[in-house]
Amino acid sequence: MALERSKNGVLLKCNDSSFFEGISVEAADLDYIESSIKKYFSDTRHHAIHNRYKMAARDYVYKEFSSFGLVAEYFEFSLPPVSTKSNFTTVIGMLKGSHFGTAYDKMIAIGAHYDTVNTTKGVDDNGSGVVTMLEVARQITTMNRKGTKRKNTIMFAAFDLKEENCKGSELLLDSWLEPWLFKNYGQAAELLESHGVFILDSVMNYNVSIKSQTSLPNMKSLFPETFSSISKDNYKGDFLAMVYRNPTSDLVLANMFKAKWKEANREQFELETFPLPFEEYSELPEKQQLNYRYFMKSDHASFWDYEVPAIYLTDTYNYRGVMAACYHRPCDDASMILSDDNLKFLGKTADVLTMTINQLSDPYQGTTVASFQIDGKSPDSPDVIHELQESVLVRNLASVLRVGSEYYQAHKLYHGLLTEMF
Ligand SMILES: [Zn+2]
Repeated sequence: MALERSKNGVLLKCNDSSFFEGISVEAADLDYIESSIKKYFSDTRHHAIHNRYKMAARDYVYKEFSSFGLVAEYFEFSLPPVSTKSNFTTVIGMLKGSHFGTAYDKMIAIGAHYDTVNTTKGVDDNGSGVVTMLEVARQITTMNRKGTKRKNTIMFAAFDLKEENCKGSELLLDSWLEPWLFKNYGQAAELLESHGVFILDSVMNYNVSIKSQTSLPNMKSLFPETFSSISKDNYKGDFLAMVYRNPTSDLVLANMFKAKWKEANREQFELETFPLPFEEYSELPEKQQLNYRYFMKSDHASFWDYEVPAIYLTDTYNYRGVMAACYHRPCDDASMILSDDNLKFLGKTADVLTMTINQLSDPYQGTTVASFQIDGKSPDSPDVIHELQESVLVRNLASVLRVGSEYYQAHKLYHGLLTEMF
């Protein structure tokens, strides 16, 4: 068990034996979060109004990703219906796991949009989401620098053009992702599964006043348990809302996030769940679609379209406190939103996401032996041999040699196993 102090002096507990599963964090660096918001996310980020400021925010995300040790990339695109003059950019940062490039890689992603509408300063919507994502990247890569390695690849993304019908995330999936996967995973791309993605959109507006939370559309009939919990709490806007599709693998991520939220203490910051009862929004009858429309209004919906599990985290923006008057207006600014309580609320979300993503990435301590384990087992264990015999990959020697070359070349036992099998 190692005990360390994080930069801002709060105790950070890391449990070596369970690969950091027990980070009981208050690790979020609130000074970093605050200064990032003030410098880069406290004014309009719209291509037609304040493109220079928007570009500065974009470049800041890229620079931060790079300085954390992520492989940073711009995905630039044009969208003439939105503008014939400006180009748009989604910023991507990859933390490659040891399974990168193989069919074993089970990616996890976290994303937030950095653009704004042309009438707001966009501190809550969605500077708050971007800085939370950056803080998670900082925490995760700090662990890596201290010796943690990860099997699964983690993708961080700052989307453009969410405020134009989520076009940024939609185009990332339509145009960027597949070529990128085939370039880096070859044929194995077709076998890849992913854990899913966490989307942050407006996550800082915390309010403990009675009746600061108004009811979300159809909340009483669609989510009776959540409604009763919020009404018993006198309609305080003191929670993070988590939206997911109940009958899908979203539930795995949602349950893990919920458990970590409990572990992270700080009970004054609550979590309320909004489990949607469908898998495919587009297959609902039209009237039902209208009922649930509010819950489809961010970048998570683009991932659902591609059957990628996705969780949507939000403070419910215009349904709470100052954002009721400031949503998409100039007063969504630092003077209204950047309070100590709001920063701490955001900090808990960042910590819980770090804990969740850390676990999903399948972390291990970087030793030679561990790096040649397959799903936590030694390559010559009966389980792994069985798994390999069952595997689609083993039916194709060429794939095994390519996909498994990392293990193949480096481990004589594994080499022996393959020779025996063929
Ligand atoms: Zn917005």
